[in-house]
Amino acid sequence: MILLEKELHHNMIAEIIKEHIQKKGFLDLYTYISLCQSHPEYGYYSNKEGVDILGKKGDFVTSPEISFVFNEIIAFWLIRQWEKAGRPEEIHLVELGPGQGKLMEGILKTLKKIPSFYAVCKIHFVEINPTFQRLQKEKISIFGEVYHYQNLGFLSKIKQPIFLIANEFFDALPVHQYMEKEGKWYEVGVGLNGQNKLQYAYAPCENMPESVEFQPDTVKIIECISEHIKQWGGAALVIDYGYWEGQGDTVQAIYKHRHVGIFEYPGKADISVHVNFKNIALQCNKRGLQYNIQTQRQFLLDFGIQLRLEQICSQVDNVQASLICQGVDRLIDPSKMGQLFKVLHIEK
Ligand code: SAH
Repeated sequence: MILLEKELHHNMIAEIIKEHIQKKGFLDLYTYISLCQSHPEYGYYSNKEGVDILGKKGDFVTSPEISFVFNEIIAFWLIRQWEKAGRPEEIHLVELGPGQGKLMEGILKTLKKIPSFYAVCKIHFVEINPTFQRLQKEKISIFGEVYHYQNLGFLSKIKQPIFLIANEFFDALPVHQYMEKEGKWYEVGVGLNGQNKLQYAYAPCENMPESVEFQPDTVKIIECISEHIKQWGGAALVIDYGYWEGQGDTVQAIYKHRHVGIFEYPGKADISVHVNFKNIALQCNKRGLQYNIQTQRQFLLDFGIQLRLEQICSQVDNVQASLICQGVDRLIDPSKMGQLFKVLHIEK
């Protein structure tokens, strides 16, 4: 029954996309990805069960799932921001796309040991997936109340500093993509081939694009965060795979830990892009904020991950120690996640 339902969803999203194409002849990649990821009924993130997305049995794993030490280090970052902000009387911790809630769970476990910080924390989650929302509530409710939102609109009601984190959130947002051919620029999109199957299509651009890929939603979200931090203070940490400059086509689809074509499993595979960090930093700069970009490796080392690892390993048996070291190694090894993943720190 469950399988049947999923098949139906798969077909539905493909049908919706084909209908769009039949009407207009061309569907830009941004709209295609938006439909696949967040169509209210059939989209990957709005509809797929959380456990089928994240973890060994899902499509991909993330740092908070790989090692609890990562979550502790993010807590250390938060403690530093709290100190810098002069220990505000109320703390608003905001997380974008918390998945199974492991990052915040790890953070709160750590913060609990600092009662004057912990006692004044309020947790805000921006999450569109209902099963993730449920998982997050389950994990976090032992620490206190969780407020859930579909977007950042709630920030206008908070007249205090925010401390915001986003791990592997921005890569999931849809992207416009452009390509140059024989001196002319085209917007990349989707059309249908002779067998009524989805295939790449191209529409001429009126103006030359500023970059090969562009995520309008990222710009809006960063604008909103920046405005808040500018007015009320706080800091944000954006962690993701991505680049600073000079990348071409980075759109990819992952299904059950396997790279697949982006038209193969609409609504069932996770479509993502490498994040353009320079563009995010630019938005922050425009509002007079400061930023600092590092590789994930450098960020974790600077915040003492090796010291923490030594402490932990001295308290567990060899088998456990080796597993924990493997996890941390995956996060900091340049050939694994250490180099590809970047950490952008934003503050006033
Ligand atoms: N941060 C988590 C999960 C990353 S997966 C981790 O590191 O493990 C991406 C997360 O963003 C999921 O929780 C997904 O449901 C959520 N998400 C994706 N698109 C979203 C959108 N448009 N608005 C809000 N949440 C979204």
